Amino acid sequence: MPELPEVETVRRGLAPVMEGQRIDRADVNRPDLRWPFPPDMADRLHGQRVLRLRRRSKYILMDLESAETLLVHLGMSGRMMVSGDPLGRFAHDHPVAQKHDHVVLHMDNGARVTFNDPRRFGAMDLLQTATADRHKLLAGLGPEPLGNDFHEQHLIDAFRGRRMPVKSALLDQKIVAGLGNIYVCEALYRGRMSPRRLAGRIASKRIAALVPIIRQVLQDAIAAGGSSLRDFRQADGELGYFQHSFDVYGREGHPCKTPECEGLIQRIAQSGRSSFYCAQCQR
Ligand SMILES: [Zn+2]
Repeated sequence: MPELPEVETVRRGLAPVMEGQRIDRADVNRPDLRWPFPPDMADRLHGQRVLRLRRRSKYILMDLESAETLLVHLGMSGRMMVSGDPLGRFAHDHPVAQKHDHVVLHMDNGARVTFNDPRRFGAMDLLQTATADRHKLLAGLGPEPLGNDFHEQHLIDAFRGRRMPVKSALLDQKIVAGLGNIYVCEALYRGRMSPRRLAGRIASKRIAALVPIIRQVLQDAIAAGGSSLRDFRQADGELGYFQHSFDVYGREGHPCKTPECEGLIQRIAQSGRSSFYCAQCQR
């Protein structure tokens, strides 16, 4: 499931082939994904120049000349493919259409952007650019973890009085937007903090220390995604999924990577999701 760094990698991969370009044609091959597509979506995309691509949490926002914004969410299994890339970074030839190619954007520079999503948990919507922040999916979101509004005092205030585990607090999208299971596990490991610790009982100093760690974990992953875009020509033009090694996520039963720690990584269930951590050095 794509998390913030994967979505940011998709945005960075799409921006050079889409920004400033016009959508010659949009093929919308079904009426819905997770929710119905907005009315007349193909017509509303047709002929529009893409002004810029932004990201909010795990949503990609494509601002169009028409003062509308196309919101894209990749869901669980959504993939963005680029073909016919005029910049030559991705596959040049358009592949044969695949079964789950639900939306295809034909750009006037010859690039084709295909949204493929076998499980259809993804979403697309068209919103007024000026009021995009008030969209139902965006309105309740907390600050961006890489933005200026996510700072030490914000997190200290957000944790105050909370009886939930710190793991759940960091997954709460109202506290910080876009953090998912993988990178919360990784950040808590780097912070030497048990995912079970109750948010409201953590000393302010330790909460504050999580902020730069969360930023660094995300930046490291975005850097890994960036090198996946840069270092090899992606033959199939698929964006966003890249090789990245984790310290604890998915490492149940393996030795802790902390020097001189003899612990093994454990997996526990919290709010129905797996937390991976080392009980020896994460307190
Ligand atoms: Zn350890």
